[in-house]
Amino acid sequence: MVAVIAVLMPSSQICADLFVATPVKLPSEVIPGDFLKVTWPSAKSAGQFLSVSNRRASWLNDRTAFLGIGAFPTVTVIGRLKYSPGGLFTYPREIFFQKVIKVSLINLTRAIKLRLPAAVWDRLKNFSQTQVGEVFAMLRRLTSPVNGKFNFHQCWHPPLHYMYVTSRFASPRTPPHAKPYYHTGIDLRAPMRTPVHVAASGKVMYIGDNPITGNIVIVDHGGGIYSEYMHLSKFKVTVGEQVNRGQVIGLSGATGRVTGPNLHWELSWKGISISALRFLQVTAPTCGRG
Ligand SMILES: [Zn+2]
Repeated sequence: MVAVIAVLMPSSQICADLFVATPVKLPSEVIPGDFLKVTWPSAKSAGQFLSVSNRRASWLNDRTAFLGIGAFPTVTVIGRLKYSPGGLFTYPREIFFQKVIKVSLINLTRAIKLRLPAAVWDRLKNFSQTQVGEVFAMLRRLTSPVNGKFNFHQCWHPPLHYMYVTSRFASPRTPPHAKPYYHTGIDLRAPMRTPVHVAASGKVMYIGDNPITGNIVIVDHGGGIYSEYMHLSKFKVTVGEQVNRGQVIGLSGATGRVTGPNLHWELSWKGISISALRFLQVTAPTCGRG
């Protein structure tokens, strides 16, 4: 009987569209912006994560991948597993798996209202909602390309010597006359003109100014990872410049849409904002702080 079934199933394609239980351990719930490091249980299970939130996973080696989770209510991880069952089923089989992970986001109805000083409000009053949307779209566009490979062995440092978080990643907020949204970075307490250090080595790929981000520097670290530094009072680098970790790229300020002087620090992975603090934790072992 088994032989008959084997004859009736001559092609691995029959199994290709089957979704099975996820063969690796993935949490069912994560914090927003998490950057999960996932390892296949054994070298035998030749699997691959195909996508997370429609972005391809980043691979450290054949067995380990990083999955970047943004600020979405859920993310879907899709993967593929190839194996040879042996016996009568000697042909390699390919199976797909899918897992939906819940993200513990605070509801947008609990968004806090941003109180903007009059001077900031003056800069913003002629800036339409469409223009605000265009700024966020531009940031996504700038931080989406994957240039070269991400260096997983490089150590990351916080951009300020003194780190005090005044607004966390994915905290819900409502600016005046605008819809509530999730904070895409973290705000760090920074008196005016505090030196801002680049978190890891990379290349300055954008320097700009607009009423939302204020003076902004974006650094490309390769492999789809970008770091962004906003509300600066002064730039200390130029576009195209290669920067080394710790180098001062600018001075903090209060430009753009701010409630006061601070540094908005943001990390993006293939166009999705991820939690900078979580990323520092995940990459800590590369700095000997694991
Ligand atoms: Zn911010």
